[in-house]
Amino acid sequence: MKSIIHLKYNEIKTRLNSGEFTSEEICQAYIKRIEENDSKVLAFLSFEKEFILNQAKESDKRRKSNSKLSEFDGIPIGIKDNICIQGIKTTCASKILENFISPYNATAIEKLYAKGFVLFPRLNMDEFAMGSSTENSAYQITKNPFDTSRIPGGSSGGSAAAVAASFLPISLGSDTGGSIRQPASLCGIYGLKPTYGRVSRYGLVAYASSLDQIGPISNDLQGCSDVLSVLAGKDLRDSTSSKEEVCKPEIKKISLKDLKIGIMKDEGATWDVEVKARFDETILFLKSQGAVIKELDFELLSSSIPIYYIIATAECSSNLSRFDGIKFGLRESHPKSKLEDLYIDSRSKGFGKEVKRRILLGTFSLSSGYYDAYYSKAQKARILIQKKYNEYFKEVDFILQPTSPTTAFKVGEKTQDPIQMYKADILTTSVNLAGLPALSIPAGLDKNSLPIGLQITGPNFSEEKIFSFANAFIDFEKLSIQLPEGIS
Ligand code: GLN
Repeated sequence: MKSIIHLKYNEIKTRLNSGEFTSEEICQAYIKRIEENDSKVLAFLSFEKEFILNQAKESDKRRKSNSKLSEFDGIPIGIKDNICIQGIKTTCASKILENFISPYNATAIEKLYAKGFVLFPRLNMDEFAMGSSTENSAYQITKNPFDTSRIPGGSSGGSAAAVAASFLPISLGSDTGGSIRQPASLCGIYGLKPTYGRVSRYGLVAYASSLDQIGPISNDLQGCSDVLSVLAGKDLRDSTSSKEEVCKPEIKKISLKDLKIGIMKDEGATWDVEVKARFDETILFLKSQGAVIKELDFELLSSSIPIYYIIATAECSSNLSRFDGIKFGLRESHPKSKLEDLYIDSRSKGFGKEVKRRILLGTFSLSSGYYDAYYSKAQKARILIQKKYNEYFKEVDFILQPTSPTTAFKVGEKTQDPIQMYKADILTTSVNLAGLPALSIPAGLDKNSLPIGLQITGPNFSEEKIFSFANAFIDFEKLSIQLPEGIS
């Protein structure tokens, strides 16, 4: 029999509900795995063992007295360190929030508690979710469980590495420009960026508010679907959350026949050869099952990196102004210092290099002399991207691409060149600019045994259909990935 830690999310759920395992047994198995292996992966910023076990024991009591909260009661879930849990530190992997203990729960957290999930805080990330490799954390660099000399992707690198290392069956991440999908892809698992507005952002520390979404990262498709159904829905505390009907967790069976799949015309030159090869094989497979493949002109989307980085940095420069040593965060002050020095010293000491770079960039593009040339132009281009996607979805049901142009790169390989790092997001950022849902699914390993991932993008609020589509070709053998047993 497989040990608990090697079970998929759905098997954990089934065995918990059949009474084969208690929540405490499941959590203890994961805790042991984490204690034995996290020194190599560094997925957790802190590990709140007592907090976890108390929740598990409470869940078992509820099941015993026939008052379980849901079929999810007792399932462990990891939490990225930018989602507020009352009474627990939330640092966003930044020094400026080193001692911040959240006084309230994010809506996503309230919803997980209401269904009985057992929360495993606090997973590492790039500082304030700015990055593609988790190397921008002020505390530690998380490693890819498939090869610990490589990065797990970012910014939700801790959330993805924890699932890939079998520390947990599922976790929450946040995605502003790819931060759920790209690490899920580089770690060989599933990651969903929901439609903008599908999940409340209340209690998610803001990076770029018009792009941010919380979503699940899981070792199976059902995990993503279940957790989305729990998180989704209107929240009066987030005016951008949508009234759209909450999606159902059941994944409907569909046939691939006659589905219309869009792919990028003339693309692939910048993708790893093996990423391109796997993508092509998948397309051939889909065709063999009767799907219709249509080539789409993606020229406009090739500008999504500069558009994204202007909008995201402009919003971040505004969102991060609250961390000034007075309202929030670390305070650096000398008895004689003026107020302005207090701001300068606190922010200089509290923020890391990449966060400072982005605040400067954003402040620049919002400044009066440059607003029209950069920010306002980027907003117009964003609308064109949204329109372009609307046109695509008149022609096709889904768009299929690799999630990342490369597999996981080496720690340190791109840290000296921010532009190279930004380019890691070439296939993910346009989806956030348009507000669309997209899912990254595992797509086998390359010859270095590193995971490849594919991204399925659909129209707004089409998550249920995306899951059904992904499920329809999940058995294509070239896509399957075995998570690593041992970590070295
Ligand atoms: N890598 C992108 C960035 O650094 C996306 C990050 C994210 O989605 N949070 O902005």
